[in-house]
Amino acid sequence: MVGGVLERPEAFRDALVKWFGRHGKDYPWRRTREPYAILVSEVMLQQTQIATVLGKGYYQRFLTEFSDVEALAAADDERLLKAWEGLGYYRRARMLRDTARAVLEHHAGRFPEDWKSLMKLPGVGRYTAGAVRAFAFDLPGAVVDGNVARVLARVMDFREPVDDTAGRRQLDEWAETMEDGARPRIYNSALMELGQTRCRPGVPDCGGCPVARFCRAVDPAGLPLKRRRAAVTEVTEHAVWRQDRRGRVLLVCEEGQRRTGMWRLPVRPESEVARWPVLMEQSYPITRYRVRLVVHQAPVGTRRSGPEVWVAVAELGGLPMAAPFRKVVVELLEKTQNQV
Ligand code: SF4
Repeated sequence: MVGGVLERPEAFRDALVKWFGRHGKDYPWRRTREPYAILVSEVMLQQTQIATVLGKGYYQRFLTEFSDVEALAAADDERLLKAWEGLGYYRRARMLRDTARAVLEHHAGRFPEDWKSLMKLPGVGRYTAGAVRAFAFDLPGAVVDGNVARVLARVMDFREPVDDTAGRRQLDEWAETMEDGARPRIYNSALMELGQTRCRPGVPDCGGCPVARFCRAVDPAGLPLKRRRAAVTEVTEHAVWRQDRRGRVLLVCEEGQRRTGMWRLPVRPESEVARWPVLMEQSYPITRYRVRLVVHQAPVGTRRSGPEVWVAVAELGGLPMAAPFRKVVVELLEKTQNQV
């Protein structure tokens, strides 16, 4: 080791940026300086892997559907949620639209560059504001996502949790001390790339690390430390599958919950469906829950209740639907030889 990063920040930055010049990946959001496109990528990547966002075409499709702030601000719920379908955490899509509307209303359609104005935009916190500043405007400031937090914790051999207030503050402080005021865009991309490809979760690739000589980690695989997670709670949902004589499917549009505006199979109390045959089961995670979804065949003559509606099979593909329910509907229609 030739001295820690805080003693020789310029050498650390140079080594990192040089490595990035040779090994940096070519992502679409690295080819643009358009703050809107960068914000969309940041929000999508908050809870979704790059491989999913790119490999399944979500990013490009969303930008094709809503090419700028004006287009997104004008989107209705159905189009917006349909474009986000499969990404989960649908609140993110609404927040993005709120941001687009705020940029139009308060900034004449042009993203502001200063921290204060950026952080007043709906859903834009310190991290996202820093990312827009760095990647769109090439302006300095700490940009600490999960990858960067891991790199910093290891480089500094930080033995405290990185996900509480004190830990986050400490990482921000180090990030600001190390930051590259002359080339924030490239430097922050490089730091993230290091976390994604070399200083990755679990066992890092220290042999291929361009900043290994500055790193103080004694047991890098054991870092970063995190607070103890809340236990996962198991819950069971009983959904019903019912088609009428015309083949229409009984659905309901969610309201007042996490997935407001998304369509799904109706859920009924266990006491009502206990004797109905089970067609399929699957489980999926959502926040701190693991949901066991049990789909029952509703008997002929079962009536729709409350807000449930009959939907023609031809219309199903155009409705926004959360991934677990889309999967169930596609499988069950295949069994009944219909197409979505
Ligand atoms: S030497 Fe290893 S632990 Fe340290 S920054 Fe590089 S990859 Fe991470």
